[in-house]
Amino acid sequence: MQLKVLGCSGGIGQGLRTSSYLIDEDILLDAGTGVGDLSLVDMRKLKHIFITHSHMDHVTSLPLLVDTLFSDLERPLIVHARPETLKSLQQHVFNWEIWPDFTELPTKESAVLSFQVMRPGETIDIDGRSIEMIDVNHTVPAAAYAVKTANSTFAYSGDTTTNDNLWHVLNGYDRLDFMVIESAFANHDIQLAQIARHYCPELLAKDLTKLTHQPRLGISHLKPGEEKRIMEECKIALDADWDIHQLSSGDSFTI
Ligand SMILES: [Zn+2]
Ligand SMILES: [Zn+2]
Repeated sequence: MQLKVLGCSGGIGQGLRTSSYLIDEDILLDAGTGVGDLSLVDMRKLKHIFITHSHMDHVTSLPLLVDTLFSDLERPLIVHARPETLKSLQQHVFNWEIWPDFTELPTKESAVLSFQVMRPGETIDIDGRSIEMIDVNHTVPAAAYAVKTANSTFAYSGDTTTNDNLWHVLNGYDRLDFMVIESAFANHDIQLAQIARHYCPELLAKDLTKLTHQPRLGISHLKPGEEKRIMEECKIALDADWDIHQLSSGDSFTI
């Protein structure tokens, strides 16, 4: 499978985009500001969007994306997420005040946006790729996703802090080739990381000892201005045999 990083920062600024990852040409994992760098031609190829949780940095391009594609969409854009996440999107974004409810436009019967409930432990197969939702530990109900093909497995953590479930589920797989995992804060912000339920390098390194695989790691969600410090702390905290990369918008990987 092909993975393209559209956005992987913890914030915005020149060259920085928030969380969004393109799998092949048709599947998005999260819809942060990185979606805005896709061409109209590439946006038209999107069919499925898997959202990890309701936070703004992961959903902010969704309303604008569906509006941009409105007259092009012959089939609905399908948004997969936990029921709590879909409820938040419906109540607080697609509520006719912040944005029109595109799940009813142009009509309820032929809407351009479809919300599909997914629960942790469930798997959806899309043209040879199976996508599993995995429960994680964040301040709102949140999920990670694992994408498996016949010969590769990729996992995307979304936002999370210390937990057992993510690692337990991943350990059950035959293989794990590549993982995007967050380290939103540097170690001096460990208390903030715990309150906001994110990782810092120290917390991440502790949790990675629970993983029996050793995938290539793409470190994401770095706080703007702290990138260098966080990556240096990751290199110190993790054993030298981990293959770690600082992700940037525009990076592509064949997994
Ligand atoms: Zn979050
Ligand atoms: Zn986030």
